[in-house]
Parts: sequence; structure tokens; C-alpha cells
Amino acid sequence: MSLQYNRPQTVAEAAELLQQPGRRAVPLAGGTWLTPRLRTDVDIPGSLAGEVDVVVDLADLPLSYVVSEGEAGSGALRIGATTRLSVIMDDPLCQALAGGILAEAARRAGPLNLRNSATIGGCVAARGPVLELTLVLAALNGSVVFSDGSADSTLRTSRSDLLITEIVVPWPAGDVRGGLARVARTPADQPIVAAAAVVNTSGVRVVLGGVAQQELVVTVSSAVDLAEAVAVQLAAAQPIADFRGSAEYRQAMAPIIARRAVEAALR
Ligand SMILES: Cc1cc2nc3c(=O)[nH]c(=O)nc-3n(C[C@H](O)[C@H](O)[C@H](O)COP(=O)(O)OP(=O)(O)OC[C@H]3O[C@@H](n4cnc5c(N)ncnc54)[C@H](O)[C@@H]3O)c2cc1C
Repeated sequence: MSLQYNRPQTVAEAAELLQQPGRRAVPLAGGTWLTPRLRTDVDIPGSLAGEVDVVVDLADLPLSYVVSEGEAGSGALRIGATTRLSVIMDDPLCQALAGGILAEAARRAGPLNLRNSATIGGCVAARGPVLELTLVLAALNGSVVFSDGSADSTLRTSRSDLLITEIVVPWPAGDVRGGLARVARTPADQPIVAAAAVVNTSGVRVVLGGVAQQELVVTVSSAVDLAEAVAVQLAAAQPIADFRGSAEYRQAMAPIIARRAVEAALR
């Protein structure tokens, strides 16, 4: 099967190309996840080789930006979907938000060549069970905006025909601190369990990844209640396991990583 390549100039054109009836079209952003999966000469898990008819390259769309709207406490940070992780890492607005955890999570997402290519939209769409960037977005109540104008605050997109155009993160009011923690087999490997914590005067919000299919969101009024709140969430969660870590290991690490993320926020 031949693969049709398109490089639209507008969001409307891209959205239309993604919704052609009877043809499977996929958006191409940085290509770090997608490109190897379109190759017919390599066999990798989740390969799409032979299943995709149309590739819609987002490179020319005007979706690479970080802008602040309004005031802290009422406004929002808007990040275009094709903004590269290296831009987020160095952006002063991202560095100013909640102790800079968004910028730091972008740095931790992978090595320099990945950060120079991968986009925030691609990360949200392709993420595996744990990616600190999406944990931070969830901890900060971020949401995804699609080309049809709809928004999803769960940051989960199951619609492959919808284009993510923007990520919106509300500017938190007051003194807001953020912290990250992870456990991984090596410093360069993907985390086994990771957490992003946001602490402000009204309480603590921790988002844990790598423990269950969906991130665990734990909200408590004081850090002393955290361990118990994590235990309650774990009891209801569907555990996950892979070659990096068993379900038991992940569950045992969850309260420790959550606590370390809060400690990092308060330091
Ligand atoms: C070295 C390395 C380390 C990694 N570590 C981790 C890790 O620790 N945890 C983890 O979860 N992942 C990890 N990944 C995967 C990583 O998150 C993705 O490779 C990357 O974020 C995808 O971004 P991209 O811009 O390159 O997207 P692409 O590869 O271009 O696309 C990825 C997917 O998202 C879709 N997509 C892209 N943009 C949009 C959009 N705007 N709207 C709708 N759909 C879109 C594509 O169609 C495709 O399905 C790693 C990858 C590499 C290469």
C-alpha cells in the first residue's frame, strides 16, 4: 500500500485531511514515535506499517508558540501543539510556572535529539504509561484543545481523527510550588513510577504515573494525609506491570515517589 504524504499550511486543511472517509490518516509531528512505526523494514511493537493511508505533516502549521493570557490566578498559559520540548524547556513562562516543573519535565522527557524533535502535542497523543510532562500537565489542571474547538481536561485523546491544536494550563494563583520525582532503572531510562506534585495554600495535588493504566490523581489538604490517600487510590486501581517493574514493585514505590515529589516542591 502506498503512503500519501501531505504538508498542509492551515489547521482547517490538516483537520480535513485527517477526516477523509475510508482512509486512515495520521498526524505527523516530531516523528520520534511515529516515523519508526511507519517503516516496513523494521518490526517494532505497535507498528502501523501497511495500516496507514495518509500522513499529515504538521510542520508548517502555525502551532509552535508559548503565550500567556491574563493574570496569574485567572489567566492561562497556551502552548501550541507543535511546540518542541526544547522550546518548552528554555521558555521563561514555562520556567516561571509552579517552580518550573513544566520546563523540567520537558528536559526529563528524553535526550537532546528527542527534545529537539518531539512536540508537546505528540507527547500527549503518544504517551506511554508514564511521562513526566503529562503528569505535570495533569497536576496543573491542563487541558487539550482540538481542531474542532472541543477541549479535554483528562488529557486523554482516543480520537485519532482529531488534531490537537493547543495545550492550555491555567496560571495558578498565589505561591504555587511544584516538584517531580521518579524511579528508573538508569538515569537515562524511562521512569518506572513518576509523580508530579503541586503545592499551594489550599492543599497538595499529586499525579502518579506508572502504577495503573490511568494516572492516579491524589488531592489532599495537607501532606500528612498523602500516604493514606495514595493507599486508597491504589486499592481501587488496576495495576500494570512490564519488564521494567512488577505491579507489586510499582505499588510499593507509589507512596514513596508521591512523598518525594511533594518534598521536592517544598524544598
Ligand atoms: C528516546 C525516547 C525516549 C522516550 N521516553 C518516553 C517516556 O519516558 N515515556 C513516554 O511515555 N514516552 C516516551 N517516549 C515516547 C515519546 O513520548 C514520543 O516519542 C514523543 O513524545 C512523540 O512526540 P512527536 O512530536 O515526535 O510525535 P510523533 O512521533 O510525530 O507522533 C506521535 C503520535 O501522536 C500523534 N500526534 C502527533 N501530534 C499530534 C497532534 N497535534 N494531534 C493529534 N495527534 C498527534 C501522531 O499521529 C502519532 O500517533 C520516548 C521516545 C524516545 C524516542
